[in-house]
Amino acid sequence: MIKNYIRKELRDFKPYHADFIQQKIKLDANESPFTLSENVKKKLIEWIENEENINRYPDTDSTELRKTLASFWNVSIDNVICGVGSDQLIDCMMKVFIEPGDKVVMPTPSFSMYSSTVVLNHGVPIQVELNSDYSYPIENIIKSCKENNAKILILCTPNNPTGNVLFEEEIKKIAENVKCPILIDEAYGEFTSSTMIPFIKEYPNIVVFRTFSKAYGLAGLRVGYGVGNKEIIDAIYLTKPPYNLNTISQKIATWVLQDYKIYKDRISYLKKEREYLLEELKSLPNIKVFNSEANFILIETNKLNLVKKLEEKEIFVRSFPKNSKTILIRITVGTKEQNKILINAIKEILK
Ligand SMILES: *Cc1c(COP(=O)(O)O)cnc(C)c1O
Repeated sequence: MIKNYIRKELRDFKPYHADFIQQKIKLDANESPFTLSENVKKKLIEWIENEENINRYPDTDSTELRKTLASFWNVSIDNVICGVGSDQLIDCMMKVFIEPGDKVVMPTPSFSMYSSTVVLNHGVPIQVELNSDYSYPIENIIKSCKENNAKILILCTPNNPTGNVLFEEEIKKIAENVKCPILIDEAYGEFTSSTMIPFIKEYPNIVVFRTFSKAYGLAGLRVGYGVGNKEIIDAIYLTKPPYNLNTISQKIATWVLQDYKIYKDRISYLKKEREYLLEELKSLPNIKVFNSEANFILIETNKLNLVKKLEEKEIFVRSFPKNSKTILIRITVGTKEQNKILINAIKEILK
């Protein structure tokens, strides 16, 4: 009985599986609808023809990519760490700070990976409910960190799946009142204007995680990074696996940043499409729409079969049950064409 040997906390765990959907209208995972830019594609082909060195292990420190990120953010290379997606850095951070039984405070609803990663690393997730409009309950978060003697506080802004942001002043207030390391997950930071990266010197207990998976369209390459004071970055290095980020991912992420102008235009395009979708969704009956600063929109509806009906039309969105009468649906912003098809489909289904 292998099961009896599995760690007790994991016996009821479900392994992460997700349908691998191709060639359909895929608005379920907050990915970018755009693939590599022409410039990046050209560099990749040239590199394969002239310099390819896949027989060698990658640069374990992702030096070129970190240098490029450091100059992009106007920080020192010592302030940057790269991971196989920001997921890996979240895991590394838990490994560094959690002793068995330590508490990690996080918002709910939010990214489900947080609590599972905490449990995998022998910690105890403490979930603080967001307010009913999904704004952050600042005082409750501070109180919960103190009462639970938190080892880590996780904040997600814009929050997945609710789309709202934590304002700079709110984060500062939290950081001034909470002593433990604070992980600020800015996975969707490119779609809003605020970031805590300029404040890493002033607030040495914060570390900001970002990713190339969403705004930059590199989900298939798994590139994430953290920016923080040298002391907290050095701490995360303690648990970073050697050679974590593969050579091709390091190269392509570097070229993407060097082609920033194109990517910036794509981000503006998606932000405009987000406003279009918000407006259209708000005009529909039986749907409550939450404002968003990310590349997705959360809606609440009592039309429980909406997701299934959309799937019949080959449109895929992400749903979260709320209670027996309502569901929450998270819709990723796609291309103009995809968004139009989506809106027309919802209109037809609700008719
Ligand atoms: C998608 C996502 C991530 C993970 O991104 P990767 O870099 O692909 O691991 C992290 N945090 C949030 C909130 C996300 O939605």
